[in-house]
Amino acid sequence: MDFKVDAEFQERLDWMNRFVREEVEPLDLLFPTDGAPYDVENTKARALLRPLQQQVKEHGLWACHLSPSLGGKGYGQLKLAFMNEILGRSHWAPTVFGTAAPDTGNAEILAMFGTTEQKARYLQPLLDGKIVSTFSMTEPQAGADPKEFTCSASREGDQWIIDGEKWYSSNARYAAFFIVMAVTDPQAAPHERLSMLVVPAETPGITVLRNVAGMNETEEHGIHAHIRYDRVRVPADAILGGPGQGFKVAQARLGGGRIHHAMRTVGQCNRALEMMLERAVSRRTQGRLLGDHQFVQGLIADSAIELEQFRLLVLKTAWMIDNEPHGAARTHIGMCKVAMAKVYQDIARRAVHLHGALGTSRDTPLGTMYMGAPMLAVADGPTEVHKVQIAKALLRGAKPAPGPFPTEHIPTKRAAALSRYAHVLNSPDPESPL
Ligand SMILES: Cc1cc2nc3c(=O)[nH]c(=O)nc-3n(C[C@H](O)[C@H](O)[C@H](O)COP(=O)(O)OP(=O)(O)OC[C@H]3O[C@@H](n4cnc5c(N)ncnc54)[C@H](O)[C@@H]3O)c2cc1C
Repeated sequence: MDFKVDAEFQERLDWMNRFVREEVEPLDLLFPTDGAPYDVENTKARALLRPLQQQVKEHGLWACHLSPSLGGKGYGQLKLAFMNEILGRSHWAPTVFGTAAPDTGNAEILAMFGTTEQKARYLQPLLDGKIVSTFSMTEPQAGADPKEFTCSASREGDQWIIDGEKWYSSNARYAAFFIVMAVTDPQAAPHERLSMLVVPAETPGITVLRNVAGMNETEEHGIHAHIRYDRVRVPADAILGGPGQGFKVAQARLGGGRIHHAMRTVGQCNRALEMMLERAVSRRTQGRLLGDHQFVQGLIADSAIELEQFRLLVLKTAWMIDNEPHGAARTHIGMCKVAMAKVYQDIARRAVHLHGALGTSRDTPLGTMYMGAPMLAVADGPTEVHKVQIAKALLRGAKPAPGPFPTEHIPTKRAAALSRYAHVLNSPDPESPL
């Protein structure tokens, strides 16, 4: 495995690094709410955003996750890993670079499964950054297990009628269209019951019951919509990928999203570690710098070790996606998803703690990071579900022991070793055995 970066690409990364810190991070301070980058009606924010996006395009770095056929660079995941580490520093950066979730995932499935008409109507303006979209899958009574979903879509003539409720549909208040996962065949096998439908936001029958706020937001800034779909009618061709393909489409969408979140989380962890280091060499107690106290050194060392392990796991996974057959990295993507939430939570907590009262305030980015970690452990599937998948994949390759004792049973292996070298061990002249 080779994680080397060539000189030309390194120059691009250096430019990105400067640009994000100097030009983009100010937007995080001026428009700090979770939903701000998606608010297409905020004219002041858009007036600042457009020229920044233009600079990104001029540097050939717009929407780099896309294939060349969709206007991207066709960069592999390894290059995207280095880029996303930089973008991860800033909440606005993914929007400035045309790589903001959930639009990236929605664009991917429209590109993969969409009809020509769907691509023209939804995909192109999404890729151009002109509109934003929502993925509407989770329900109030069920999230991690799609088999529990009840929101349905049934055929009446040449239309689908959608009925039910969805929960935590992020950015619905700003979205031009929703991709809704609905039960289209309740009697089918579990993985063929569901379909995806593309629904314009203005379709009659859609009611946003409430915009739920994340724990780091005030209620007025909630962006996660609880939605009621009340006999919402869409044409038969609103289906994405065909009836019963909802599960397959959802899987295609979530793989890329998870690894890109992990890449950006490396950037956030780096930022927290940088802050810890600065604090440790800036503040004194008991006649010494914080960094001269061994407890503090322990916090720093643990954070650096965990971050390095996590980063290497992400880079290896990216390399596997680029170099191994399709699907070979699935287990590793799950590992990144699990590790991301744990490492981020541990490093953010230590950084908050090392900053004392200041760390617990809203005066640094650390509080937002700390509150973001539990969300990473739940969004795109809870940690437990991924751990189960990882373990099952490993167990599939495991073989039972040949007898009552494990293959590593020392007495059994010792007997085999004695037998293997008996000719030497039992020889009266070990230097020249029989
Ligand atoms: C920030 C954020 C943004 C989101 N955006 C969207 C969005 O745009 N669109 C959308 O549709 N959804 C979205 N979600 C919802 C997300 O997909 C769900 O939260 C997730 O699938 C988990 O579902 P749930 O919240 O219903 O939790 P549940 O499924 O109720 O799980 C709750 C807990 O139960 C335990 N658990 C669950 N399953 C198992 C299992 N198999 N084994 C052992 N323990 C288990 C775990 O501890 C888990 O955390 C978002 C969530 C977050 C946090």
